[in-house]
Formats: sequence, structure tokens, C-alpha cells
Amino acid sequence: MNEHLRNDIKYLPGVGSRRAEILYRELGVATYGDLLYTFPFRYIDRTKFYTVNEVNPDLPYIQLRGTIIRFQEIAYGQRQKRYIAYFTDGTGVIELVFFKGLKWIQERLKTGTEYIVFGKPALYNNKVNLVHPEVDEPKADTHTLQSALQGVYRSSEMLQNNGLGQRAFLRLQTHLLNASLSQIEETLPAHLLHRYSLMPLREALYNIHFPQSAERLQQAQYRLKFEELFYIQLDLLRQRNDRKEAARGFVFTSVGEHFNACYRRLPFELTGAQKRVIKEIRYDMGSGRQMNRLLQGDVGSGKTLVALLCMLIAADNGYQSCIMAPTEILARQHFDSIRAFLHDSGIRAGLLTGSTKKKDRRALHEELADGSLHILIGTHALIEDAVQFRNLGFAVIDEQHRFGVEQRARLWSKNEQPPHVLVMTATPIPRTLAMTIYGDLDVSVIDELPPGRRPIKTLHFNDSQRLRVYGFMSEQIRAGRQIYVVYPLIKESEKMDYKNLEEGYEMIADAFPPPEYDTAIVHGKMTADDKHFYMQRFIRGQAQIMVATSVIEVGVNVPNATVMVIESAERFGLSQLHQLRGRVGRGAEQSFCILMTGYKLSAEARKRMELMVTTNNGFEIADADLSLRGPGDLEGTMQSGQVFDLRIADLGRDGQLLEYVRHIADAILAADPALAQPQNTTLRIQLNQLKNQTKNYKDIS
Ligand code: ADP
Ligand code: MG
Repeated sequence: MNEHLRNDIKYLPGVGSRRAEILYRELGVATYGDLLYTFPFRYIDRTKFYTVNEVNPDLPYIQLRGTIIRFQEIAYGQRQKRYIAYFTDGTGVIELVFFKGLKWIQERLKTGTEYIVFGKPALYNNKVNLVHPEVDEPKADTHTLQSALQGVYRSSEMLQNNGLGQRAFLRLQTHLLNASLSQIEETLPAHLLHRYSLMPLREALYNIHFPQSAERLQQAQYRLKFEELFYIQLDLLRQRNDRKEAARGFVFTSVGEHFNACYRRLPFELTGAQKRVIKEIRYDMGSGRQMNRLLQGDVGSGKTLVALLCMLIAADNGYQSCIMAPTEILARQHFDSIRAFLHDSGIRAGLLTGSTKKKDRRALHEELADGSLHILIGTHALIEDAVQFRNLGFAVIDEQHRFGVEQRARLWSKNEQPPHVLVMTATPIPRTLAMTIYGDLDVSVIDELPPGRRPIKTLHFNDSQRLRVYGFMSEQIRAGRQIYVVYPLIKESEKMDYKNLEEGYEMIADAFPPPEYDTAIVHGKMTADDKHFYMQRFIRGQAQIMVATSVIEVGVNVPNATVMVIESAERFGLSQLHQLRGRVGRGAEQSFCILMTGYKLSAEARKRMELMVTTNNGFEIADADLSLRGPGDLEGTMQSGQVFDLRIADLGRDGQLLEYVRHIADAILAADPALAQPQNTTLRIQLNQLKNQTKNYKDIS
């Protein structure tokens, strides 16, 4: 990008310092370049007009042509007013409603003049109307570049109230293109443009804002998406190559007595997938390069066991290991199950969490430092400075997306030489997303469940069928099974959610009264000791029912629990539902997942429930999740700093293109690893600039 595009946006005619501030706050636009790369998210055909009698609230932005017949001012609240213009085109009358800037609107709008009105129909006061539409006279806007399709930019009330509505945006983009276009340098090398028939950058930028035809728009979008995804992949792949070259890894040559002893003692055979993954990890650990591997596997696929066996390889070679889990409960669970596998092996494992007592903590620190502790299991307490290993050779990070990049980097830096790193995730990340975010990690997949597991049956009920559900629950309890009942807990509605949880608990305790039944409850407001106490009651089978929030028990493993009841299931995304469902189906008995929802559901929520009922395949669900919601939510669960700021590509829809450009990037690097050849100069320059702009996603450890 050239100097010109680095200009402060406030210098663009029509902006100024106040609007510049708002543009920054609302859209992150600080420079000419930022604005130029703020693309419309939709386009409308401004040759199309609706008639008033066609308008309904499900329509997107529409255009009407007609006149205002009268005005009305309605006072409400203490000092607020709203202003209504009754608009007609002969087929009916629709209200144009204004709440802000009334004075300006009153001065400008007249009855009888022909206007073109542009806005999004909405229901207000039980009537369909247009709130704060754009109202213009039908003459062409001479301040704006002409186009066949009109771009619609992301907007907000704040933007609109400060003269930064759609029309203003088009004008700003016009100024910007007029001033900048001739100075914009091509950002892809000629050989790529030629070979893949890509539209040159200037033309693409012009057409993305002011499409000269639907076809030109499509070519512009393709070119810009191609470029965006291509550079991300080029960057990630180059870093992976660099790291493979540079990062020396501890060499674990022997697979010895600890590994073999534990392996022999396993009460079951490893699945083919587990064996394959262990082989992949062993290969990495012996290669002399530092391992950086993502292990994906559906819940219950046996990832933890794989991690443990690999930790034993580290121990066999004289190195320590650690496993970091996102919650205290999960860490304890790992600790308990790992200890059960280890029993008298001579390998010592310790647990370190936020609630570990000072005295125990000090003892752990000492044993870590002198090497007598082989495996440390814990929460983010592991990365505190006081925790010093004698020789950390292998670090496992469970449920990775709950940890920020920085936390991982700190774990990484516990040694002079970085340990081998295994990141485990139970959230099946769609292939496209994994490639984008972890493009520089190697990926292993456990795509097979231990034998004897029966697929979970998923059923969908609404609130009025609750008694039936209770009847089913008591049958299961009579058969000796245990049950989870999970309530949503979302930050924005936390208070209400806790209320629902407590009411739900009381309802369950009423329906399943002691002493015959015992219901445990676990939630985030309890002390760690209380949580532990109730968890233990459930794990030991003393409590038949566990009422919990969705946050609390991710990763818990109680094979005797066969029923997962998810309350207000419509409030969960698909991946979350699937994750929760994975808490059951871990034993030999038939397990059930019961989705409780309200009677009325949005079409989208209904689709989610149907999908859950019809499939158990985590990858299928993750892909559907991505296309139903877009990647926003998935990314949202990954800590900020890792989130990709994609301007135009859509991971849900552009998966194929992503794979395509990855191959292209790979081939270029294979032929010219340092991008030193003259035809790749543009690539090298662009990559360096990208590095300065974006941050973090390359620091994944
Ligand atoms: P994940 O971490 O992938 O969710 P876990 O490692 O917690 O899965 O394994 C779930 C349960 O399955 C544990 O009780 C574990 O002991 C058991 N398990 C793991 N591998 C096998 C296997 N190959 N055969 C039978 N059971 C297994
Ligand atoms: Mg697990």
C-alpha cells in the first residue's frame, strides 16, 4: 500500500475530525486505505422499485417512489418526539418514521414533491413502516460515481445520525476513488493475474464500490477474495516452513519402559485412529524439529489418553510434561483419570490450579524444579512465573480456543528451547477454518470412536411435553443411569440465566424428591470446594441428576451418565449443542440427548434442532454451523487476537477458494522458499506489509 492510503481519514473532503472519530469507533476506519477497503456487504438494484402494497417486514432494503401526503408530530415520554411522514405511491400509504434530527427533516421534506425513499421495512407499533429511511428527489446524485448496482455499507445509528448514512458513504467513496485510484499499486504479481485471470486491483476496487455490471462485480469480488485468502495462506505456510527449518526440537529417541508398561496395562485396545496419531506424534518428537500439532477429535474419542501416552514418551527420554486445561473441573478430571492409568508406574503427576493451597503449591514448585515431578496438570495457573520446570519437553493444551495466544506463548517460553506442543480440541473445526487459523500447525485427526459406543439418540421436545421427559428421566434413573440437565449461561443475560438455573433446579428437586433421589447442582458462583463436592457426588453415583450451566462441565467424563437434557436448547449454537451432547454416550448403554425448547421457534433454530436429531457427526455439524451462522461465532469463541479480520472472503462460503489458493501458495514457496526471485518481489513486499498490519495469528504456539 502506498503513502497516499496512509493519510488520516479526517483529511478526506466531507469527513473532518468529528466524523473521523466516529468512523474509527464504529468501523475501525482510520485511514484512506481503511475506508477504501471497507466494502459494501450487499448490493441493490436501484432500478427496481417496490410498491407500497407489496411492502412487508421480511423484505431487505427497498426502494419506493411517491409523495408525502401529510406530516404528524407525536410527543411521547418526557421530551421525546417522533415525526411521521405519510407516504404514498397510489397503491397504499406507509409511514416514514423519524426520531432524530427532526428539525432538519421538517425543513427539508415537503408534501407533494416526488421522492425516492430507501430503507428497510420493519414492524413498529404493529405496523410496517420505514424508520429513518433515506429520502431523495429522483434526480441523479452528481456527487457520486454512477454504477449499475448500488453498494450498501454497514451502518449504525451513530453513523446515520452524524451524516454518515448510505448516501454519504457513496460520496466519500467517490471522493476517495477520484483522489486515490491513479496512485494505487498492484498488489499481486503479474504472473498470478495472468495465470488465474484476475481483475487488476484498481479496476477491482472501483467495481467493488461502484459495480459497472453484475459480471464486473463478480470478477472484482473474486479477485479481492483470492488476494485476501492467498496472502494469509502464503504467510502461514512460509512461517511453517521457516519454523521447520529453524526451531530445533528436543529429540526423543527412545520409547521406553513407561510408555510400554502403561500401554500393556490398558484395559482396552487403542483405536486405529489413536494408534495412527501416536505414530505421527512420535515421528515429530524424534525428528529433531519442534512439534507443533493440532489434535482434533470428537468428544470421547480418546484424545486425553493419546496425550498421556505421549507424555510417557517424554518421561522415557527424561523430560517433564504438562497439560493445561481451561477449567478447574477439567483439570481435576484429567488428573484423576491420568493417575488411574499411572497407578504404581513410578511416574509422578501433580495438580496445580487456582485453588491449590499455598503449602501444596510450594511443594509442587520444588518437585518441578528438581525434576521429581514428571507430569504437571492444571489450569492457567501453570503459566505463572513461579512455575519453573527442570526440563519441560512436552506441553499439551486442551480445549485450546479458550486460551489466548499470549498464554500459550508464555507456556512455550518456559524453556530456552521450546517444548513440543500438542493442542487438543474437541470442537471439530471445519476444515476451512482450521486451515485459516492453524495453517501453520500440523493437524492430526481422531476420526473414530472407541468400539462399543452406541450412537446417541437425540430427541427434541417443547416445554409442554415436560412431563413426558420427566417420566423418561425416572425410567432411566430406575435403570441405574445418571442424568445431566444443562442450562444456558450467557454473559449478557447472566442474571436471568442464574434465575432460570435455580428455578430449574427447584423444579427438578420437586419432581425428583429426596431421599429417593439426589440432585446435585454446579455453577460458576459456587466455591471451588463446593463444586468439587457436588461433582464428586455425581461422579461417584451418589447423585443421579446433575443440574449445571453450560459453562461448567465441558469435558466431564461420567460413563454412567446416559441422558443429557439441554434446556432452552434454541439458545445454543450447533457446535455447543454437539459439545454438550458428547458428555453422554461414553459407556456401553444407549444414551440420549434431549433438546428442550419453547414451542415457537425461528426457522433457523428449528433447522439446528433438526440437524442435531438427524446427525451425530461433529464435522458435519461444524460445517453446517459455519454456513448457518457464518464464522463469526466460532471465531468469537477463539480469544481475540486470533480473530481474522476478513474483509471480503467468507470462510463458510469460500472454502473451496481457500483450498485452491493454499495450493497455489504452496507451489510458489516450493519453487522459491524465500520469495527471492524477481517475479515474486511483489509477494515479498506485500507479505512484509501484512505482517506489520495484522498481528498474532502467527504466534499460535
Ligand atoms: P476425549 O479427551 O477425546 O474427549 P477421553 O480421552 O476423555 O476422550 O476418553 C473418553 C473415555 O474413553 C475415557 O474414559 C477413556 O478412558 C476411554 N477410552 C479412550 N480410548 C479408548 C479406547 N481405545 N477404547 C475404549 N475406551 C477408550
Ligand atoms: Mg477430553
